[in-house]
Amino acid sequence: MRVAIIGGGVVGLACGWSLAKRGVEVVIVEKDVIGEAASKGNTGWVSPTISFPLASPGTLMMGMKSAFDPNGALVIRPELDTRWLKWLWAFRGAASRERFLKGVEALHNLNRRTFEVLDAYAADGVPFEMHSGGILTLGKTEKGISWFGPVFEDLKKIGFEGEIETLTVEEARKIEPAIGDEVKFVVRTTIDRYVQPQSLMRALADRLVELGQEVREHTAVLGLQQVSGGWTIQTDGEPIVADRVIVATGALSPALLRPLGLDVPIVPAKGYSITLRGEGTRPSQALYLTEPKIGISGFDEGVRIAGTFELPGRDLVVDDRRVRAIVDEACTFLKDWHPLPGETAVEGWAGWRPATPDSLPLLGPVPGLDGLFLATGHGMLGVTLAPSTGALLADMILDGASPAWVAPMRPDRRF
Ligand SMILES: Cc1cc2nc3c(=O)[nH]c(=O)nc-3n(C[C@H](O)[C@H](O)[C@H](O)COP(=O)(O)OP(=O)(O)OC[C@H]3O[C@@H](n4cnc5c(N)ncnc54)[C@H](O)[C@@H]3O)c2cc1C
Repeated sequence: MRVAIIGGGVVGLACGWSLAKRGVEVVIVEKDVIGEAASKGNTGWVSPTISFPLASPGTLMMGMKSAFDPNGALVIRPELDTRWLKWLWAFRGAASRERFLKGVEALHNLNRRTFEVLDAYAADGVPFEMHSGGILTLGKTEKGISWFGPVFEDLKKIGFEGEIETLTVEEARKIEPAIGDEVKFVVRTTIDRYVQPQSLMRALADRLVELGQEVREHTAVLGLQQVSGGWTIQTDGEPIVADRVIVATGALSPALLRPLGLDVPIVPAKGYSITLRGEGTRPSQALYLTEPKIGISGFDEGVRIAGTFELPGRDLVVDDRRVRAIVDEACTFLKDWHPLPGETAVEGWAGWRPATPDSLPLLGPVPGLDGLFLATGHGMLGVTLAPSTGALLADMILDGASPAWVAPMRPDRRF
């Protein structure tokens, strides 16, 4: 069997590895270069403890309020575009307590295999940067950190096996000496990890090639055509023929699927990051700064600081003012680490998270279009969910697996 995977982001590559390891012939088709879109500049957290839907009671109001706040963490912009208004309406519908809990459960179920698959990559000789030891959640105020306990309780009730620990700031500084004086509250998650996403994607792509599979870069897919027994993929180069197709094109999925009559509710949610060497006591862990909703990952190459969730993302222009504001805010949580002079003027990054209204990905076969599978819409959790998504798609394609717990993530669910 030959499977074409469209999109060489973290999700497409994870699907490729899981299929290739089960003996399937795989071709990954990427319009640019592997791992250069949303999967590139993220903080790389693999965080089942912080896997919950964005849509929850109160989020819409909060997002609307910061629509015009240049430093708002969540920005929801009113726009008169029909697709966007439809998405917003569905987001509102998904924000009830009941739907939120269902979403937490769906993500928990998908996450059950996350670490197993991540460890299988390492055991297979895929070399990538990975850090264990949990995430330190830092708050300046009790109110700022108070959301964490109830969300964690929701996870525990459905059998989540991780723990959280409340630490004193002194205890936390033994783990992360970079924590600053303004931090008053710390909660540590235990099982979460983080990876350097580019190292993971490059290593997966190299491993696929080593396994005799094809990774075709600089090849844009223009259309998909169902033919007898399979699919023909029209590209800006040679057409590709495959028995099955997985669409893993992230935020760009709607445009590719629309000609097939599929209207997938994915909008781009723009976020920013910057990776700096800086000077001072350098963070060497994953830190979540609760009040400004900023993530920090201490990578080998430097400190990555990321934030904002701008809906809908209109472009990928890096707003330097916003990036600087994120860095300045992050530094207020740190002891004495700061960018080197002129460093923030350099390498800011912006990416589009593929956001669905209920924050759940679209996974599995598309009814009525035999052999077409979706693995897209992973929103703010693509790195976390990619390994288990890959394993699930391989089970679906090879074994016809359709476990009941996947139903909330079916591509044809009602929004
Ligand atoms: C600031 C920020 C921080 C984040 N932090 C985290 C985090 O810590 N942990 C976490 O789990 N998630 C995080 N995320 C979310 C995560 O980055 C995304 O969910 C994930 O990258 C989505 O991966 P993907 O493979 O679906 O999409 P992408 O990485 O966007 O890949 C899709 C690929 O498809 C290609 N493509 C599109 N159309 C075509 C076509 N027609 N033909 C050929 N190729 C095509 C694109 O070029 C692209 O390479 C963060 C996101 C942002 C923006």
